[in-house]
Amino acid sequence: MRIGIDVDGVLAARIPAILALIERRHGVSIAREEVTDWSVSVPTTDRDISSYFAETDADPEHIRALDPIDGAVEGMRRLARHHTLLIATYRKPEAAEPTMEWLDSNGIPYDRYVRDVGERKRNVRATVLVDDSPRTVRAFVESGREAILFRQPWNRQEQIPDGIPVADGWADVLEELGL
Ligand SMILES: [Mg+2]
Repeated sequence: MRIGIDVDGVLAARIPAILALIERRHGVSIAREEVTDWSVSVPTTDRDISSYFAETDADPEHIRALDPIDGAVEGMRRLARHHTLLIATYRKPEAAEPTMEWLDSNGIPYDRYVRDVGERKRNVRATVLVDDSPRTVRAFVESGREAILFRQPWNRQEQIPDGIPVADGWADVLEELGL
């Protein structure tokens, strides 16, 4: 089976790194659980959380320093024994090389890095997609394919259509995929 794997929020703990950056720069402390949406505004600034994704996509050091999400490394190693793994992220093109270096340095196996995922990841030629974005997951399922929503504080309030499995961590992902 060909499995599409999102990076931020599935493999990489991006929000904690962004929150640490915000604290260093603005002295504002925001807990991960408070990020119920990427449009959450950052106190004392005129910015919201999403703007820091765009900014730090262009910072290879930020990308290379990210922690893997619990269970992601071992989960990907197990999946790789049975399936073809396609890395499918909305990160900007300039983040591609640092992201591949990050995957390698963390020992995360994959078969292909999809450079142009397209709108809602429609160009990702996978039979199933693992992603933390409800909109992306919904669109993937509407295109006749399968998807697993990776649960995070920022998708907890979303109404998920019936029949779309939700994974509370990597153990659930593996179970959904029959491993
Ligand atoms: Mg994501």
